[in-house]
Amino acid sequence: MNSLREYDVKFIKGIGPGRAELLKQQLGIKSAYDLVRHFPTGYVDRSKVWRIIDFNGDMPSVQIKGRFLTFNIMGEGAKARLVGLFTDGTSQIEVIWFRQVRKLRDAYHTGNEYILFGRPTFYEATRTWSMIHPEVDSVTSPSVMTGFRGVYPLTEKLRNQGVGSRQLAQWIQSFLFSRKNINETLPPSVMERLGLMPLQEALITIHKPIDNDSLQRARLRLKFEELFYIAVDMMRRNLKRRTASRGQLFGHIGNFFNRFYNECLPFELTGAQKRVIREIRSDVNTGRQMNRLVQGDVGSGKTLVALMAMLIAIDNGAQACLMAPTEILATQHYETLKSMVSKIGLDIRLLTGSTRAVERRAIHEGLIDGSVHLLVGTHALIEDSVQFKNLGMAVIDEQHRFGVVQRARLWTKNALPPHVLVMTATPIPRTLAMTVYGDLDVSVIDELPPGRKPISTVLRYENDRHHVYRGLGSQLRAGHQAYIVYPLIDENVKLDLLSLKEGYETICETFPSYKVAFVHGRMKPAEKDYQMGLFASGEAQILVATTVIEVGVNVPNATTMIIENAERFGLSQLHQLRGRVGRGGDQSYCVLMSKHEIARETRRRLELMTRTTDGFEIAEADMKWRGPGDIEGTMQSGIAFDLHIANLAQDGQIIQLARDNAEMLLKDDSDLTLPENRTFAVSLQKELARSADWSRIS
Ligand code: ADP
Ligand code: MG
Repeated sequence: MNSLREYDVKFIKGIGPGRAELLKQQLGIKSAYDLVRHFPTGYVDRSKVWRIIDFNGDMPSVQIKGRFLTFNIMGEGAKARLVGLFTDGTSQIEVIWFRQVRKLRDAYHTGNEYILFGRPTFYEATRTWSMIHPEVDSVTSPSVMTGFRGVYPLTEKLRNQGVGSRQLAQWIQSFLFSRKNINETLPPSVMERLGLMPLQEALITIHKPIDNDSLQRARLRLKFEELFYIAVDMMRRNLKRRTASRGQLFGHIGNFFNRFYNECLPFELTGAQKRVIREIRSDVNTGRQMNRLVQGDVGSGKTLVALMAMLIAIDNGAQACLMAPTEILATQHYETLKSMVSKIGLDIRLLTGSTRAVERRAIHEGLIDGSVHLLVGTHALIEDSVQFKNLGMAVIDEQHRFGVVQRARLWTKNALPPHVLVMTATPIPRTLAMTVYGDLDVSVIDELPPGRKPISTVLRYENDRHHVYRGLGSQLRAGHQAYIVYPLIDENVKLDLLSLKEGYETICETFPSYKVAFVHGRMKPAEKDYQMGLFASGEAQILVATTVIEVGVNVPNATTMIIENAERFGLSQLHQLRGRVGRGGDQSYCVLMSKHEIARETRRRLELMTRTTDGFEIAEADMKWRGPGDIEGTMQSGIAFDLHIANLAQDGQIIQLARDNAEMLLKDDSDLTLPENRTFAVSLQKELARSADWSRIS
């Protein structure tokens, strides 16, 4: 019998219908399965009894043993509280209750010996220690806890109803100990290969550990299980996609590709670029549809890779398109690509929201008769009115601005869906990519073009400002350009705009002989484009802006990036901003300006930026600090982050282990029909049904 999922918690001893309802409402716990997987977030050590006289500084929750000297109800009505004076023979402590005042006064007696468990706090004013709402047990009571006890995630409402960590621990333990036959949910081959702790033992151990060693083994087993389910599911879906989704076959490399490569390519490709292009070539040569994510740090040369991919499509008689998140970026891509392919006689067009009707009509016609080979644009190009003769390759730049839905709309542009190449400069930690982008194959461009000098990054404070401006001045005199970026955070738009304007004025006054462009997100698009244009063309030497410049803008002559209030940005965002400089051959600089008083953690974050320019390292750190839910790109991924114990940021090795074992399992039993995998298959099925439910609700 293995029906923990069907076992309603109301049947568990001590819970009953009322509290079952409460657990469901407050913690989403419906079944015994949910209950035993409500894992502790930490443990308290109940094996040690403290002496009051030893209390000192910031105390954890502790256990003390002694007697009450007095009990008094103080105050009246809603303000009534019960105050007990407790002594353990070494010193005294005040114990205070705000709830169930009368009931508790009658329940406890002076003279009896009790064990109290709670967190002592010290009041300077009266110079006394006190404990609020401790757990109280008579020393003779059988329910006195010993050893480690779990601390559970709870809600205020549950606590008010008397359901605390101790109560949960008791329910869970009495259930687990009464149940001797919890079935193993991992395949036996995997259990054996990895020597994992059996499920039953792992559950008991995680709720009531005896020592740290077995606790770690229990945690490993439970984390592995969660990640293994995801890995198996992901791999099966990939297998299905690989075999099912027919795609266009681009079997040869032709004139456009070869001529571009031999005659027009202004530099040698990096090893990483070559490798990714080879991956793409082999994808499109299989007859199945390609769905590939190319991750490459800012400046790693993704555009060129995209172009080569598009040329392969064109060589095979198909058309290609490239979609960018903003008009500025689309225009920039268009111009770069046009200058690159003009020699090989391709017809390339730009389609955005502001394309004139006449040109728009010409583009529509050219796409339908096939005379337009390559279309660059914003999301305007997924509109229904845009039809191709034969779209073979769709490239999406800067993935995180597009959702899964837009990607899917591209597929419908052709009878046989086009190959899809998604490019992102937001490095996603590898572990996260494997989980979140499970439906995409991932390529990484992990090498920058040669000759790039690493951007020199420094952290500076307000009192260094004149030094910073002096440095900026010498860069400007050398003919270079500079960005100065201000944070703009919604709640504070007014204040932020003010500091942005002030900053702009200061810059104009400090550097009167240079032209300063000014951009922020609240401007009309036309004004914004005009200002950006001033900077991009070199007419303006300085750009004062908010983060609107974050993505993709390419002005190789810009060598200085000053980020004001850097402490208010996330690491990945700082990295994106920094990537706007260092795009030419000249030494570039990034200055992180910060207030002096910042949290130690914030300072450490900023210091990390000064030490490394490796986007992956920064993304890993960012994920550790902020958690994976905040990392761009994960939100719309469609994966429910329904993990109870595994942590995508920290469990990279277990993720890898899960994937390797999923692969081995599916190699031997791709449909999971072998009898020994039966329990696992059923369990997986149920787990998937559950998370499908979950994603529909949220
Ligand atoms: P990103 O990956 O950030 O989109 P881009 O494609 O805009 O980077 O490339 C950044 C700059 O590097 C461009 O000016 C591009 O021409 C140049 N570049 C790309 N590949 C190479 C290479 N192999 N050698 C030298 N420069 C390159
Ligand atoms: Mg780019």
